Amino acid sequence: MSKSRRDLQIHKTYEALFALEDLREVFRQSLPTGLDKEQENSISETLARLKGIIGDLERGEGRLNENKIGRLEPRTREEEFINIHPIQAAGRLTPEARKAMISYGDGYSACDFCRKPFRLDKISRPPIEEFHQELARFVNMDEARVVPGARRGFQAVTQSILKSGDSVIVSSLAHYTEFLAVEVAGGVVKEVDLDENNLITAEATAQKIEEVREETGTLPALVMIDHFDYQFANEHDVYEIARVAHEYGVPILYNGAYTVGIKPVDGKKIGADFIVGSGHKSMASAAPSGLLATTDEWAPIVFKTTQMTGDLTKRRFGIKEVQNMGCTLMGATLLSMMASFPRVKERTGQWEEEVRKSNYLLEQFLRVEGSRVQSEWPRKHTLSKVDTSDSFDLVAKKHKRRGFFFSDELKERGIVGEFAGATRTWKLNSYGLTWDQIRHTAESFLDIAAKYGLNVA
Ligand SMILES: *Cc1c(COP(=O)(O)O)cnc(C)c1O
Repeated sequence: MSKSRRDLQIHKTYEALFALEDLREVFRQSLPTGLDKEQENSISETLARLKGIIGDLERGEGRLNENKIGRLEPRTREEEFINIHPIQAAGRLTPEARKAMISYGDGYSACDFCRKPFRLDKISRPPIEEFHQELARFVNMDEARVVPGARRGFQAVTQSILKSGDSVIVSSLAHYTEFLAVEVAGGVVKEVDLDENNLITAEATAQKIEEVREETGTLPALVMIDHFDYQFANEHDVYEIARVAHEYGVPILYNGAYTVGIKPVDGKKIGADFIVGSGHKSMASAAPSGLLATTDEWAPIVFKTTQMTGDLTKRRFGIKEVQNMGCTLMGATLLSMMASFPRVKERTGQWEEEVRKSNYLLEQFLRVEGSRVQSEWPRKHTLSKVDTSDSFDLVAKKHKRRGFFFSDELKERGIVGEFAGATRTWKLNSYGLTWDQIRHTAESFLDIAAKYGLNVA
Protein backbone atom coordinates (compact mmCIF):
# COMPACT_ATOMS: atom_id res chain seq x y z
CA MET A 1 0.00 0.00 0.00
CA SER A 2 1.42 3.40 -0.93
CA LYS A 3 1.93 6.04 1.72
CA SER A 4 -0.57 8.44 0.18
CA ARG A 5 -3.22 5.72 -0.02
CA ARG A 6 -2.59 4.90 3.64
CA ASP A 7 -2.79 8.59 4.62
CA LEU A 8 -6.03 9.01 2.76
CA GLN A 9 -7.47 5.98 4.52
CA ILE A 10 -6.43 7.40 7.88
CA HIS A 11 -8.22 10.65 7.14
CA LYS A 12 -11.25 8.78 5.83
CA THR A 13 -11.31 6.80 9.08
CA TYR A 14 -11.50 10.04 11.03
CA GLU A 15 -14.15 11.36 8.67
CA ALA A 16 -16.22 8.22 9.31
CA LEU A 17 -15.73 8.44 13.07
CA PHE A 18 -16.85 12.05 13.02
CA ALA A 19 -19.88 11.22 10.90
CA LEU A 20 -20.84 8.59 13.48
CA GLU A 21 -20.63 11.27 16.15
CA ASP A 22 -23.03 13.42 14.11
CA LEU A 23 -25.36 10.44 13.97
CA ARG A 24 -25.04 9.98 17.72
CA GLU A 25 -25.95 13.63 18.27
CA VAL A 26 -29.29 13.12 16.55
CA PHE A 27 -30.20 10.56 19.22
CA ARG A 28 -29.13 12.97 21.94
CA GLN A 29 -31.46 15.64 20.54
CA SER A 30 -34.46 13.36 20.10
CA LEU A 31 -37.24 12.15 22.37
CA PRO A 32 -36.78 8.79 24.11
CA THR A 33 -40.04 7.75 22.45
CA GLY A 34 -38.69 8.02 18.91
CA LEU A 35 -37.40 10.25 16.17
CA ASP A 36 -39.42 12.89 14.36
CA LYS A 37 -39.45 13.27 10.58
CA GLU A 38 -36.60 15.75 10.50
CA GLN A 39 -34.47 13.55 12.72
CA GLU A 40 -35.20 10.50 10.57
CA ASN A 41 -34.04 12.51 7.56
CA SER A 42 -30.97 13.63 9.37
CA ILE A 43 -30.11 10.01 10.18
CA SER A 44 -30.64 8.96 6.56
CA GLU A 45 -28.48 11.80 5.26
CA THR A 46 -25.70 11.06 7.69
CA LEU A 47 -25.83 7.36 6.87
CA ALA A 48 -25.63 8.13 3.17
CA ARG A 49 -22.60 10.32 3.81
CA LEU A 50 -21.08 7.59 5.95
CA LYS A 51 -21.56 5.00 3.21
CA GLY A 52 -19.77 7.31 0.80
CA ILE A 53 -16.89 7.65 3.23
CA ILE A 54 -16.73 3.89 3.78
CA GLY A 55 -16.69 3.40 -0.01
CA ASP A 56 -13.74 5.82 -0.30
CA LEU A 57 -12.05 4.02 2.56
CA GLU A 58 -12.46 0.64 0.86
CA ARG A 59 -11.13 1.89 -2.46
CA GLY A 60 -8.48 4.06 -0.88
CA GLU A 61 -9.47 7.02 -2.98
CA GLY A 62 -11.63 10.11 -2.83
CA ARG A 63 -11.43 13.72 -1.77
CA LEU A 64 -9.32 14.45 1.27
CA ASN A 65 -11.47 16.08 3.93
CA GLU A 66 -9.66 18.28 6.44
CA ASN A 67 -11.95 16.99 9.23
CA LYS A 68 -11.52 20.24 11.14
CA ILE A 69 -13.29 20.47 14.48
CA GLY A 70 -13.93 24.20 14.48
CA ARG A 71 -10.40 25.54 14.45
CA LEU A 72 -8.91 22.26 15.64
CA GLU A 73 -7.12 19.89 13.37
CA PRO A 74 -7.66 16.24 14.20
CA ARG A 75 -4.50 14.66 15.61
CA THR A 76 -3.37 11.86 13.32
CA ARG A 77 0.25 11.67 14.42
CA GLU A 78 0.01 8.21 15.94
CA GLU A 79 -1.70 6.84 12.83
CA GLU A 80 0.43 8.56 10.21
CA PHE A 81 3.84 8.23 11.80
CA ILE A 82 6.12 6.21 14.02
CA ASN A 83 6.33 8.46 17.08
CA ILE A 84 9.57 8.27 19.08
CA HIS A 85 8.73 11.24 21.32
CA PRO A 86 10.41 10.73 24.71
CA ILE A 87 7.36 11.37 26.87
CA GLN A 88 4.54 10.18 24.60
CA ALA A 89 5.38 6.56 23.90
CA ALA A 90 3.78 4.68 26.81
CA GLY A 91 0.88 7.06 27.26
CA ARG A 92 -0.52 6.24 23.83
CA LEU A 93 -4.03 4.92 24.30
CA THR A 94 -5.09 1.35 23.75
CA PRO A 95 -8.13 0.84 21.49
CA GLU A 96 -10.07 0.01 24.68
CA ALA A 97 -9.15 3.38 26.17
CA ARG A 98 -10.22 5.19 23.01
CA LYS A 99 -13.58 3.44 23.14
CA ALA A 100 -13.96 4.37 26.80
CA MET A 101 -13.09 7.98 25.92
CA ILE A 102 -15.88 8.29 23.40
CA SER A 103 -18.46 6.68 25.64
CA TYR A 104 -17.47 8.44 28.89
CA GLY A 105 -16.47 11.83 27.49
CA ASP A 106 -19.29 13.71 29.17
CA GLY A 107 -18.24 15.73 32.22
CA TYR A 108 -19.11 13.84 35.39
CA SER A 109 -19.73 10.57 33.56
CA ALA A 110 -18.25 8.44 36.35
CA CYS A 111 -20.97 9.63 38.70
CA ASP A 112 -24.10 7.97 37.25
CA PHE A 113 -24.38 5.50 40.10
CA CYS A 114 -22.54 7.38 42.82
CA ARG A 115 -24.20 6.48 46.11
CA LYS A 116 -23.44 7.15 49.73
CA PRO A 117 -20.77 7.79 50.98
CA PHE A 118 -20.24 9.79 47.78
CA ARG A 119 -16.62 9.32 46.96
CA LEU A 120 -15.10 8.43 43.61
CA ASP A 121 -13.10 5.45 44.85
CA LYS A 122 -16.24 3.95 46.42
CA ILE A 123 -18.27 3.82 43.20
CA SER A 124 -19.10 0.25 42.20
CA ARG A 125 -20.68 0.89 38.78
CA PRO A 126 -18.59 1.29 36.72
CA PRO A 127 -16.26 -0.81 38.93
CA ILE A 128 -14.14 2.07 40.19
CA GLU A 129 -13.82 0.74 43.74
CA GLU A 130 -12.56 -2.59 42.47
CA PHE A 131 -10.15 -0.77 40.14
CA HIS A 132 -8.64 1.02 43.13
CA GLN A 133 -8.05 -2.30 44.87
CA GLU A 134 -6.49 -3.68 41.71
CA LEU A 135 -4.23 -0.65 41.43
CA ALA A 136 -2.97 -1.20 44.98
CA ARG A 137 -2.29 -4.89 44.19
CA PHE A 138 -0.65 -3.96 40.90
CA VAL A 139 2.13 -2.07 42.71
CA ASN A 140 1.92 -4.31 45.81
CA MET A 141 0.86 -1.62 48.25
CA ASP A 142 -2.08 -1.46 50.67
CA GLU A 143 -4.10 1.49 49.37
CA ALA A 144 -4.24 3.41 46.10
CA ARG A 145 -5.96 6.46 44.68
CA VAL A 146 -6.10 7.85 41.19
CA VAL A 147 -4.67 11.35 40.91
CA PRO A 148 -4.47 13.95 38.11
CA GLY A 149 -0.88 13.13 37.17
CA ALA A 150 2.16 11.96 39.09
CA ARG A 151 2.77 15.56 40.14
CA ARG A 152 -0.50 15.61 42.09
CA GLY A 153 0.57 12.40 43.78
CA PHE A 154 3.81 14.06 44.93
CA GLN A 155 1.79 17.06 46.07
CA ALA A 156 -0.65 14.98 48.13
CA VAL A 157 2.32 13.47 49.94
CA THR A 158 4.32 16.66 50.50
CA GLN A 159 1.30 18.61 51.68
CA SER A 160 0.40 15.84 54.12
CA ILE A 161 3.77 15.30 55.71
CA LEU A 162 5.91 18.43 55.35
CA LYS A 163 6.05 21.26 57.81
CA SER A 164 7.24 24.65 56.62
CA GLY A 165 11.01 24.62 56.12
CA ASP A 166 11.35 20.82 56.10
CA SER A 167 13.96 19.36 53.77
CA VAL A 168 13.20 16.80 51.09
CA ILE A 169 15.95 14.72 49.52
CA VAL A 170 15.63 14.51 45.75
CA SER A 171 17.91 13.35 42.97
CA SER A 172 20.12 15.74 40.98
CA LEU A 173 18.13 14.41 38.04
CA ALA A 174 14.75 15.07 39.71
CA HIS A 175 11.83 16.21 37.59
CA TYR A 176 10.65 19.82 37.94
CA THR A 177 7.30 18.66 39.35
CA GLU A 178 9.14 17.19 42.35
CA PHE A 179 10.65 20.63 43.03
CA LEU A 180 7.22 22.26 42.75
CA ALA A 181 5.57 19.67 45.00
CA VAL A 182 8.13 20.45 47.69
CA GLU A 183 7.78 24.19 47.13
CA VAL A 184 3.98 24.23 47.30
CA ALA A 185 4.17 22.50 50.68
CA GLY A 186 6.70 25.01 52.04
CA GLY A 187 9.62 22.59 51.97
CA VAL A 188 13.15 22.87 50.62
CA VAL A 189 14.76 20.46 48.13
CA LYS A 190 18.17 18.99 48.86
CA GLU A 191 19.73 17.25 45.87
CA VAL A 192 21.78 14.08 45.99
CA ASP A 193 24.84 14.32 43.78
CA LEU A 194 25.40 11.97 40.85
CA ASP A 195 28.29 9.56 40.62
CA GLU A 196 30.56 9.41 37.56
CA ASN A 197 27.99 7.20 35.79
CA ASN A 198 25.11 9.63 36.32
CA LEU A 199 23.62 7.44 39.01
CA ILE A 200 22.22 8.18 42.45
CA THR A 201 23.69 5.75 44.95
CA ALA A 202 22.53 4.77 48.42
CA GLU A 203 25.85 6.02 49.84
CA ALA A 204 25.39 9.45 48.29
CA THR A 205 21.83 9.55 49.62
CA ALA A 206 23.02 8.66 53.13
CA GLN A 207 25.68 11.35 52.88
CA LYS A 208 23.08 13.95 51.89
CA ILE A 209 20.81 12.94 54.76
CA GLU A 210 23.77 13.40 57.13
CA GLU A 211 24.55 16.80 55.60
CA VAL A 212 20.98 17.96 56.06
CA ARG A 213 20.97 16.78 59.64
CA GLU A 214 24.20 18.68 60.34
CA GLU A 215 23.08 21.80 58.56
CA THR A 216 19.52 22.04 59.87
CA GLY A 217 19.62 20.04 63.08
CA THR A 218 16.82 17.78 61.85
CA LEU A 219 16.40 14.90 59.47
CA PRO A 220 14.78 15.45 56.08
CA ALA A 221 11.03 14.77 56.09
CA LEU A 222 11.06 12.69 52.90
CA VAL A 223 13.29 11.05 50.31
CA MET A 224 11.83 11.24 46.81
CA ILE A 225 13.65 9.13 44.20
CA ASP A 226 13.01 8.37 40.54
CA HIS A 227 13.58 4.73 39.69
CA PHE A 228 14.41 5.78 36.12
CA ASP A 229 15.11 9.50 35.73
CA TYR A 230 13.66 11.53 32.88
CA GLN A 231 17.00 12.82 31.56
CA PHE A 232 18.93 9.61 30.86
CA ALA A 233 16.43 6.98 32.00
CA ASN A 234 19.26 5.45 34.01
CA GLU A 235 18.21 2.99 36.67
CA HIS A 236 18.89 4.15 40.21
CA ASP A 237 19.20 1.70 43.08
CA VAL A 238 15.85 2.36 44.71
CA TYR A 239 16.06 -0.79 46.84
CA GLU A 240 19.25 0.29 48.61
CA ILE A 241 18.14 3.92 48.73
CA ALA A 242 14.89 2.91 50.45
CA ARG A 243 16.86 0.79 52.92
CA VAL A 244 19.14 3.72 53.76
CA ALA A 245 16.23 6.15 54.13
CA HIS A 246 14.54 3.76 56.55
CA GLU A 247 17.73 3.38 58.55
CA TYR A 248 17.37 7.08 59.28
CA GLY A 249 13.64 6.70 59.83
CA VAL A 250 12.85 8.84 56.78
CA PRO A 251 9.92 7.79 54.53
CA ILE A 252 10.56 7.21 50.84
CA LEU A 253 8.50 8.12 47.83
CA TYR A 254 9.22 5.98 44.77
CA ASN A 255 8.69 7.99 41.60
CA GLY A 256 7.53 5.48 39.02
CA ALA A 257 6.57 7.93 36.28
CA TYR A 258 8.75 5.90 33.90
CA THR A 259 8.02 2.44 35.36
CA VAL A 260 4.49 1.93 36.70
CA GLY A 261 2.51 0.60 33.74
CA ILE A 262 5.45 -0.61 31.65
CA LYS A 263 7.56 -2.77 33.96
CA PRO A 264 6.69 -4.72 37.11
CA VAL A 265 6.83 -2.59 40.27
CA ASP A 266 6.67 -4.20 43.72
CA GLY A 267 6.29 -1.56 46.42
CA LYS A 268 6.77 -3.96 49.31
CA LYS A 269 9.95 -5.40 47.83
CA ILE A 270 11.30 -1.90 47.26
CA GLY A 271 10.24 -0.92 50.76
CA ALA A 272 8.49 2.21 49.51
CA ASP A 273 6.15 4.23 51.70
CA PHE A 274 4.63 5.87 48.64
CA ILE A 275 4.48 4.79 45.02
CA VAL A 276 3.58 7.36 42.41
CA GLY A 277 2.82 6.58 38.78
CA SER A 278 1.74 8.58 35.76
CA GLY A 279 -1.29 7.44 33.77
CA HIS A 280 -0.61 9.61 30.75
CA LYS A 281 3.10 8.81 30.69
CA SER A 282 3.17 5.09 31.31
CA MET A 283 -0.32 3.62 31.67
CA ALA A 284 -1.85 4.22 28.23
CA SER A 285 -4.29 6.73 29.69
CA ALA A 286 -5.64 10.17 28.91
CA ALA A 287 -4.17 13.18 30.70
CA PRO A 288 -4.16 14.13 33.48
CA SER A 289 -4.06 10.79 35.25
CA GLY A 290 -1.86 8.85 37.62
CA LEU A 291 -1.81 6.94 40.85
CA LEU A 292 -0.65 7.35 44.41
CA ALA A 293 -0.31 4.19 46.47
CA THR A 294 0.77 3.82 50.06
CA THR A 295 0.91 1.54 53.08
CA ASP A 296 -1.65 1.05 55.86
CA GLU A 297 0.71 3.04 58.04
CA TRP A 298 0.65 6.17 55.86
CA ALA A 299 -2.83 5.93 54.37
CA PRO A 300 -4.61 7.69 57.28
CA ILE A 301 -2.13 10.57 56.93
CA VAL A 302 -2.06 11.15 53.17
CA PHE A 303 -5.70 10.20 52.72
CA LYS A 304 -6.92 12.14 55.75
CA THR A 305 -10.62 12.92 55.60
CA THR A 306 -12.15 16.35 56.16
CA GLN A 307 -12.56 17.61 59.70
CA MET A 308 -14.12 20.93 58.74
CA THR A 309 -17.51 22.09 60.06
CA GLY A 310 -19.46 25.04 58.63
CA ASP A 311 -19.89 27.69 61.31
CA LEU A 312 -23.45 28.58 60.26
CA THR A 313 -24.81 25.42 58.74
CA LYS A 314 -22.74 22.97 60.81
CA ARG A 315 -22.25 21.01 57.60
CA ARG A 316 -19.53 18.37 57.46
CA PHE A 317 -18.42 16.39 54.47
CA GLY A 318 -17.77 13.00 55.98
CA ILE A 319 -15.18 10.89 54.20
CA LYS A 320 -14.06 13.34 51.52
CA GLU A 321 -10.28 13.20 51.42
CA VAL A 322 -8.62 16.57 51.81
CA GLN A 323 -5.55 16.05 49.63
CA ASN A 324 -7.68 14.59 46.86
CA MET A 325 -10.20 17.44 47.09
CA GLY A 326 -12.86 14.77 47.63
CA CYS A 327 -12.87 13.25 44.17
CA THR A 328 -10.20 13.30 41.49
CA LEU A 329 -10.70 11.88 37.98
CA MET A 330 -14.41 11.91 37.32
CA GLY A 331 -14.80 11.00 33.69
CA ALA A 332 -12.97 9.96 30.55
CA THR A 333 -9.51 10.18 32.13
CA LEU A 334 -10.36 7.58 34.76
CA LEU A 335 -12.33 5.41 32.37
CA SER A 336 -9.45 5.43 29.89
CA MET A 337 -7.17 4.22 32.69
CA MET A 338 -9.60 1.48 33.63
CA ALA A 339 -10.14 0.39 30.05
CA SER A 340 -6.40 0.16 29.36
CA PHE A 341 -5.61 -1.55 32.64
CA PRO A 342 -5.95 -5.23 31.61
CA ARG A 343 -3.55 -4.66 28.73
CA VAL A 344 -1.26 -2.51 30.87
CA LYS A 345 -0.99 -5.27 33.48
CA GLU A 346 -0.25 -7.76 30.75
CA ARG A 347 2.35 -5.61 29.00
CA THR A 348 4.53 -5.21 32.09
CA GLY A 349 5.33 -8.90 31.52
CA GLN A 350 6.89 -8.01 28.17
CA TRP A 351 9.29 -5.42 29.51
CA GLU A 352 12.39 -7.50 28.72
CA GLU A 353 11.37 -7.60 25.07
CA GLU A 354 10.84 -3.81 25.04
CA VAL A 355 14.37 -3.39 26.42
CA ARG A 356 15.73 -5.76 23.75
CA LYS A 357 14.10 -3.62 21.04
CA SER A 358 15.54 -0.48 22.59
CA ASN A 359 19.05 -1.99 22.59
CA TYR A 360 18.72 -3.24 19.04
CA LEU A 361 17.61 0.18 17.80
CA LEU A 362 20.50 1.93 19.50
CA GLU A 363 23.05 -0.66 18.38
CA GLN A 364 22.04 0.15 14.83
CA PHE A 365 22.07 3.88 15.58
CA LEU A 366 25.63 3.55 16.93
CA ARG A 367 26.79 2.21 13.57
CA VAL A 368 26.68 5.82 12.36
CA GLU A 369 30.22 6.98 13.07
CA GLY A 370 30.42 9.65 15.77
CA SER A 371 27.03 8.85 17.33
CA ARG A 372 26.94 8.19 21.05
CA VAL A 373 24.47 7.07 23.68
CA GLN A 374 24.69 9.23 26.81
CA SER A 375 22.42 7.00 28.88
CA GLU A 376 23.84 3.96 30.67
CA TRP A 377 24.81 1.13 28.33
CA PRO A 378 23.44 -1.42 27.61
CA ARG A 379 20.03 0.15 27.96
CA LYS A 380 17.68 -0.98 30.71
CA HIS A 381 14.89 1.27 29.45
CA THR A 382 13.23 2.32 26.20
CA LEU A 383 13.89 6.03 26.78
CA SER A 384 17.41 7.12 25.93
CA LYS A 385 19.50 10.22 25.51
CA VAL A 386 21.79 10.28 22.51
CA ASP A 387 24.48 12.61 21.26
CA THR A 388 24.90 13.20 17.54
CA SER A 389 27.25 16.21 17.76
CA ASP A 390 29.88 14.24 15.85
CA SER A 391 27.52 12.71 13.32
CA PHE A 392 24.24 14.30 12.23
CA ASP A 393 25.21 17.69 13.64
CA LEU A 394 28.21 17.79 11.29
CA VAL A 395 25.70 17.66 8.43
CA ALA A 396 23.44 20.24 10.10
CA LYS A 397 26.33 22.72 10.27
CA LYS A 398 26.55 22.80 6.48
CA HIS A 399 22.89 22.27 5.58
CA LYS A 400 20.67 25.22 4.67
CA ARG A 401 17.92 23.82 6.92
CA ARG A 402 20.45 23.46 9.76
CA GLY A 403 19.28 20.95 12.38
CA PHE A 404 15.89 20.71 10.72
CA PHE A 405 17.39 18.67 7.90
CA PHE A 406 17.33 15.69 10.28
CA SER A 407 13.69 16.05 11.28
CA ASP A 408 12.81 16.63 7.62
CA GLU A 409 14.55 13.42 6.60
CA LEU A 410 12.99 11.44 9.42
CA LYS A 411 9.55 12.79 8.68
CA GLU A 412 9.93 11.85 5.04
CA ARG A 413 10.48 8.29 6.27
CA GLY A 414 7.43 8.50 8.52
CA ILE A 415 9.20 9.12 11.81
CA VAL A 416 8.42 11.99 14.17
CA GLY A 417 8.97 12.83 17.83
CA GLU A 418 12.65 13.72 18.07
CA PHE A 419 13.03 17.35 19.11
CA ALA A 420 12.77 19.17 15.78
CA GLY A 421 15.99 20.95 14.91
CA ALA A 422 18.05 19.22 17.59
CA THR A 423 21.09 17.39 16.24
CA ARG A 424 23.42 17.50 19.25
CA THR A 425 21.78 15.84 22.24
CA TRP A 426 18.23 14.60 22.06
CA LYS A 427 16.02 11.86 23.44
CA LEU A 428 13.97 9.10 21.93
CA ASN A 429 11.65 6.43 23.27
CA SER A 430 10.98 3.17 21.45
CA TYR A 431 8.32 1.87 23.86
CA GLY A 432 5.54 -0.10 22.19
CA LEU A 433 6.96 -0.07 18.67
CA THR A 434 6.69 -3.35 16.78
CA TRP A 435 9.85 -5.06 15.56
CA ASP A 436 8.99 -3.93 12.03
CA GLN A 437 8.71 -0.34 13.21
CA ILE A 438 11.99 -0.67 15.13
CA ARG A 439 13.78 -2.02 12.07
CA HIS A 440 12.31 0.71 9.86
CA THR A 441 13.48 3.38 12.33
CA ALA A 442 16.97 1.84 12.55
CA GLU A 443 17.25 1.62 8.76
CA SER A 444 16.11 5.22 8.47
CA PHE A 445 18.96 6.44 10.70
CA LEU A 446 21.48 4.51 8.60
CA ASP A 447 19.89 5.60 5.35
CA ILE A 448 20.00 9.29 6.29
CA ALA A 449 23.62 8.92 7.42
CA ALA A 450 24.60 7.31 4.13
CA LYS A 451 22.75 9.95 2.10
CA TYR A 452 24.86 12.69 3.70
CA GLY A 453 28.15 10.85 3.49
CA LEU A 454 28.56 9.88 7.14
CA ASN A 455 30.43 6.63 7.70
CA VAL A 456 28.32 3.66 8.65
CA ALA A 457 30.04 0.66 10.23
C1 LIG B 1 6.84 12.90 33.53
C2 LIG B 1 7.44 12.86 34.87
C3 LIG B 1 6.76 13.40 35.97
C4 LIG B 1 5.45 14.12 35.86
O1 LIG B 1 4.41 13.23 35.57
P1 LIG B 1 2.90 13.78 35.40
O2 LIG B 1 2.08 12.54 35.44
O3 LIG B 1 2.85 14.49 34.09
O4 LIG B 1 2.62 14.69 36.54
C5 LIG B 1 7.36 13.29 37.20
N1 LIG B 1 8.55 12.70 37.38
C6 LIG B 1 9.22 12.16 36.35
C7 LIG B 1 10.55 11.48 36.60
C8 LIG B 1 8.70 12.23 35.08
O5 LIG B 1 9.40 11.70 34.06
